[in-house]
Amino acid sequence: MTRLEDLPIRDELRGKKPYGAPQLDVPVRLNTNENPYPAPDRLVQRLTADIAAVARDLNRYPDRDAVRLRTELARYLSDTTGHVVTYEQVWAANGSNEVLQQLLQAFGGPGRVALGFEPSYSMHPIISRGTGTAWVGARRAADFTLPAEAAVAAIEEHRPDVVFLCSPNNPTATALPRETVVAVYEAAQRVKPSLVVVDEAYAEFSHHPSLLPLLDGRPNLVVTRTMSKAFGAAGVRLGYLAADPAVVEALLLVRLPYHLSTVTQVTALAALACRDELLENVEAIKRERDRVVAELGAMGLEVVPSDANFVLFGRFPDQAVTWRALLDHGVLVRDVGLPGWLRVTAGTEAENDAFLDALRTVLKENR
Ligand code: PMP
Repeated sequence: MTRLEDLPIRDELRGKKPYGAPQLDVPVRLNTNENPYPAPDRLVQRLTADIAAVARDLNRYPDRDAVRLRTELARYLSDTTGHVVTYEQVWAANGSNEVLQQLLQAFGGPGRVALGFEPSYSMHPIISRGTGTAWVGARRAADFTLPAEAAVAAIEEHRPDVVFLCSPNNPTATALPRETVVAVYEAAQRVKPSLVVVDEAYAEFSHHPSLLPLLDGRPNLVVTRTMSKAFGAAGVRLGYLAADPAVVEALLLVRLPYHLSTVTQVTALAALACRDELLENVEAIKRERDRVVAELGAMGLEVVPSDANFVLFGRFPDQAVTWRALLDHGVLVRDVGLPGWLRVTAGTEAENDAFLDALRTVLKENR
């Protein structure tokens, strides 16, 4: 039996663990920040018809530059943020993870450094490593906020080529003030200049407006988004970004040709055409998120204020024990490896009730 360590694998991958939220078949799955609502009937019908219409032409490669899709994504961003972007400013790929990977292929790489403020999205360091980019994990404050002075100091010390900001941040659910992003951008331009990536995967769930208007006059700023959360389309694999058209040109140098299949493009377009219905679900999720925050607080737990579709709560003497106890009650939440804390995704009302009931029982059992 050949073991992984016997292979002539790159040194920086030796001993590393793959990304892996457990995909367990339990009644209540609240561990990967998915949208709990299935596709509405109107979307299913439209999608079925649209895929039938292109099926015969699948002998041909897709539109390599996904112009129609990028045009509709640009329209969505412009309509919902009040900041007009054109398709030349928008790029799309298979999930925002692939968008981030392409950014690092073009702006990171061997001899270059990416920096983020942890705890944050665990894929930022993993994608950095995969692209040969060195990773610096600077720290957030104990309450998970990011003071602008500390962020600027970290940039001055490490002189990164790529800076990751995540707002609302996974796993803390906290959003960044506009001024912090401006201060980080200015520091990053002063010391290098470097690319500043704002990961807005959860923007639609925030109490605060999108940071997208900051793109104005900032050619090295990038805002990434995804259809996996607000659009309830995690299975589609469609992420996108808005930036200066020159950034999009840079990504054309590293993307694989025809990376977005015809089926993906058609599916994403159908979801965008049904966006009013899909975004109504976002409002329901936000109400449920606020209820979960309130009820966890009423249980006497610490709860981090949430701008996302998930909630970080604690603190537990050993969060792995509480995670297991919840699983025994049929509820899967996420242990993100933060001592004392667990993360729960806001699901449907029934799922959240099941989670809250299970947690009350677990807390009583452990008293
Ligand atoms: N960014 C953040 C902050 C996330 O939490 C996630 C998904 N968990 C992603 C990006 C990637 O999402 P996707 O690849 O599905 O677009």
